[in-house]
Amino acid sequence: MRIEFQEDSSDEILTDEKWQAIINNDKSYNNQFFYAVKTTGIFCKPSCQSRVPKKENVRIFQSADQALFANYRPCKRCKPTNERLPDSEWVDLITQYIDKKYTQKLTLEILADISHGSPYHLQRTFKKIIGITPVEYIQQIRINTAKNYLLQSDRAITDVAKTVGISNTPYFITLFKKITGHTPAQYRQLHGKMKYRRD
Ligand SMILES: [Zn+2]
Repeated sequence: MRIEFQEDSSDEILTDEKWQAIINNDKSYNNQFFYAVKTTGIFCKPSCQSRVPKKENVRIFQSADQALFANYRPCKRCKPTNERLPDSEWVDLITQYIDKKYTQKLTLEILADISHGSPYHLQRTFKKIIGITPVEYIQQIRINTAKNYLLQSDRAITDVAKTVGISNTPYFITLFKKITGHTPAQYRQLHGKMKYRRD
């Protein structure tokens, strides 16, 4: 029979890296491990804002289930068992964020960070609901917006690229061509004022 709070072989090692993550409330370690405090019987996510425990009282678990199994209770503050939003609402928040911020630097890691999930989970869940990955979604918004700029203004390609959040023009041209089948210049020529000449 398992005795409450007693250490056993299922314990992970409290490395310096993990200890630093606990001290710094480092969100990027969430879902990588959980820490329990022997004196309180409570377990937390690395990001928990509650008081830093004494190092010798800390136990590390790989999953919330393992901590529960060892009779620790989930912290009310950081909710390590994840009373998660339904996936569709969660993804909705992320697409709204991308729609507003696509002109800025956005990576899977940045999105995972702001949405409090792991990049892996975000990638899978987003694709399941939207049908494409977050990065593909960002690219689509950027290229669609660029199309409008190309047709409705005479701004230079480099300028259009920067405006939609891509500072590397050759990369912008490559991506544009990959998605639309034409370079930005070709696209402008085909669909802009010269449209009636198309054959
Ligand atoms: Zn907590």
